[in-house]
Amino acid sequence: MVEKVSRNFFLFLSHNRLISSGAKKWGLKFGASQVVAGVAIEEMIESLKELNQKGLVCTVDHLGEYVQSKEEALESTAMAIQTLEAIAASGVSSHMSVKLTQLGLDINAEFCLENMKKIVRVAKKHDIFMRIDMEDYTRCQKTLDILAELRKDYENIGTVIQAYLHRAEKDVDELQDLSLRLVKGAYKERATVAYQEKEKVDENYFNIIKKHLLNGKYTAIASHDHHIIKKVKAFAKENNIPKSQFEFQMLYGMRTEMQQSIADEGYTMRVYVPFGKDWYGYFMRRLAERPQNVKFALRGLFSN
Ligand code: FAD
Repeated sequence: MVEKVSRNFFLFLSHNRLISSGAKKWGLKFGASQVVAGVAIEEMIESLKELNQKGLVCTVDHLGEYVQSKEEALESTAMAIQTLEAIAASGVSSHMSVKLTQLGLDINAEFCLENMKKIVRVAKKHDIFMRIDMEDYTRCQKTLDILAELRKDYENIGTVIQAYLHRAEKDVDELQDLSLRLVKGAYKERATVAYQEKEKVDENYFNIIKKHLLNGKYTAIASHDHHIIKKVKAFAKENNIPKSQFEFQMLYGMRTEMQQSIADEGYTMRVYVPFGKDWYGYFMRRLAERPQNVKFALRGLFSN
């Protein structure tokens, strides 16, 4: 009960545009620096180098979402390209993740597609894989439509399927020839489109993971849930699925010891590394996911 209220509270706060735009001027606050790798590109590159040295690979996210003006969307596009150039120049091992609402999806889908094309073209030049994060349900089909357009010209691209959505299994079937990141889902969704009970979400999550692994396509299991991780390892072993066909992913700053031990066991462990001044919505979603995360936010109040 407390968990549900806390989740709804932080998800509600994550949408507050006023605080979000104010937060861009504050720098990282309330302990956000524990889950966000700095504001500037240079700070993020340093974090990537440290992670790579420990045997962890990465995917970088230049934070931002729900952009309302073309000017901001173009700025985000330019920043994504700068990020790709910095990854290539520094020689770190990293993919890049993007959110389409940061690139103008809510303004005009065609405009957003053009921005994505500019980014994916640069990523291709540097042989960097691009992952389109999945946002809330109202943007899901639009995201998949843009992905379909991009796939006509590019192969270095994939997306995310959220297990809480009723449509997840069908989407995994339709995208069975694509590299997919599979997650439980981070947004507040209606019961008409998404499972509300944790047990149902977990069950559907493991189902779609098994399905995509058996399809033989690359599967990124993005979860901090040790039960799921254990089950995936056992399932892969039983079905002779090689370690080269899947990877685990976790968020920067979360379960870092487990990240290291998974990498040490010889699995690919990819850390999702967010950076940038637009940290507020991302940080609120992390607080929503796990009440314990609020503890480090409170500690952070006194340290930065
Ligand atoms: P949970 O269901 O939160 O936790 C299950 C159990 O694991 C907990 O009960 C606890 O026992 C243990 N546990 C979890 N976290 C911790 C911790 N920090 N420390 C100790 N124990 C812990 N969502 C989207 O909607 N779209 C996306 O594009 C997207 N991309 C993602 C990318 C990555 C790399 C990751 C890791 C997540 C992403 N998510 C995304 C978020 C995802 O949908 C979930 O909201 C989030 O990962 C929480 O679910 P979980 O599977 O980690 O485990």
